[in-house]
Amino acid sequence: MTDLKTLQRDDAAHFIHPFTDSKTLAEKGTRVIERADGIYLWDIQGNKLLDGMAGLWCVNVGYGRQSIVDAVSKQMQQLPYYNSFFQCTHPPAITLAKTIADLAPAHMNTVFFTGSGSESNDTNLRMVRRYWDLKGQPNKKTIISRENAYHGSTVAGASLGGMSGMHEQGDLPIPKIVHIAQPYWYQEGADLSPEEFGLKAARSLEEKILELGEDNVAAFIAEPFQGAGGVIIPPSTYWPEIKRILAKYDVLLILDEVISGFGRTGCWFAAEYFDLQPDLISIAKGMTSGYIPMGGVIIADRVADVIKQQCGEFTHGYTYSGHPAAAAAALENINILKQEKIVEQVANEIAPYFQQRLRTLAEHPLVGEVRGIGLVAAIELVQDKATRARYNSDLGVGTWCRDFCIQHGLVMRSVGDTMIISPPLVITKTQVDELIDKALLALNDTYQQCL
Ligand code: PLP
Repeated sequence: MTDLKTLQRDDAAHFIHPFTDSKTLAEKGTRVIERADGIYLWDIQGNKLLDGMAGLWCVNVGYGRQSIVDAVSKQMQQLPYYNSFFQCTHPPAITLAKTIADLAPAHMNTVFFTGSGSESNDTNLRMVRRYWDLKGQPNKKTIISRENAYHGSTVAGASLGGMSGMHEQGDLPIPKIVHIAQPYWYQEGADLSPEEFGLKAARSLEEKILELGEDNVAAFIAEPFQGAGGVIIPPSTYWPEIKRILAKYDVLLILDEVISGFGRTGCWFAAEYFDLQPDLISIAKGMTSGYIPMGGVIIADRVADVIKQQCGEFTHGYTYSGHPAAAAAALENINILKQEKIVEQVANEIAPYFQQRLRTLAEHPLVGEVRGIGLVAAIELVQDKATRARYNSDLGVGTWCRDFCIQHGLVMRSVGDTMIISPPLVITKTQVDELIDKALLALNDTYQQCL
């Protein structure tokens, strides 16, 4: 076994990591994760960590699922690869498309496969523009997104996203993608009630459509709740008003369910949770629980019928669209979710308990707000609970808290001073208690350091 120091040296020398400062990595070294089981990870030094982030929001059924390994292994022996271009296909991709269509909202019966969430959003961009061309409205090209949204890291994905740091590094966004305000009441709501602020944020969509002209707007893209932006749950007034506006101006809805899909909210898709009828849904992550990379777009009949019947060749696709081994992983992952009734369990048992236990942390002097739905949540760290004032960002209070979490055996991520949590859906009540206990220890340590 290669020792930790050698691994860290080779890592720093040869591996540029995603979303990582390579200089800091070289100075401090990385945490090397070696194995995992259920909701726990072990690093190479044998430290056990409760994975409060399900990897990167993806390991919905937990680690160590032998039946997924077996399904992938069997598929690899039979047909490790074939493509789905040029009138070819294979049984796992067909079965998966039908399985997902059956789980999706009733008006969505078609799937396009990709290799990741970013590729799914690239696909959305191509598909909505093609759709409006075919509908005889070629000027309907612009896509409206939101500040602080995350839609991936390819050129189109990062452009659709609203992360200013990503835009700065890539000369982004590309043309015909614009951003409106996000529905982040805790940070930006000031004196408005959440309901008033939700309406205000939604109406910025209407203002933008009117500014651009409805004949120029193809689609609005949004996460049902923002994940990477800090688990931002829109106020209750937001989505109903967005729905009204989209219908009024005939603008398509692309719902990015890369995080929320496959059970995170206690529904198979958050479209159901928020009562939305999207035209396109981006999926990835929980689709295979991360065992093998895979993504896709679920397409409403309204769009799919036009693409299928009028497009001719849709000149878009990826070598690994519908990859048979990935499809086998997805099918077994979905089978586990169904057989073990995990989504129902989240809705009826675990999410209510998780949310209730988590709310107890709101009493902590460092905590300004705890919010969440299903098995996803955020904890806002603030200097002043009454005014919602944050600590000076140079301090990196969120990073302190994240590091204290690790010391106490918990993986929790920080977005600025917002702590975010998204554990595997198979977490038990006892494990929720363990997560809360560890989070409290980390909050106490962080608070001491703030004094
Ligand atoms: N969309 C959302 C909402 C995401 O959270 C992510 C990744 O975190 C993506 C898209 C991009 O997915 P991927 O990293 O698989 O390209």
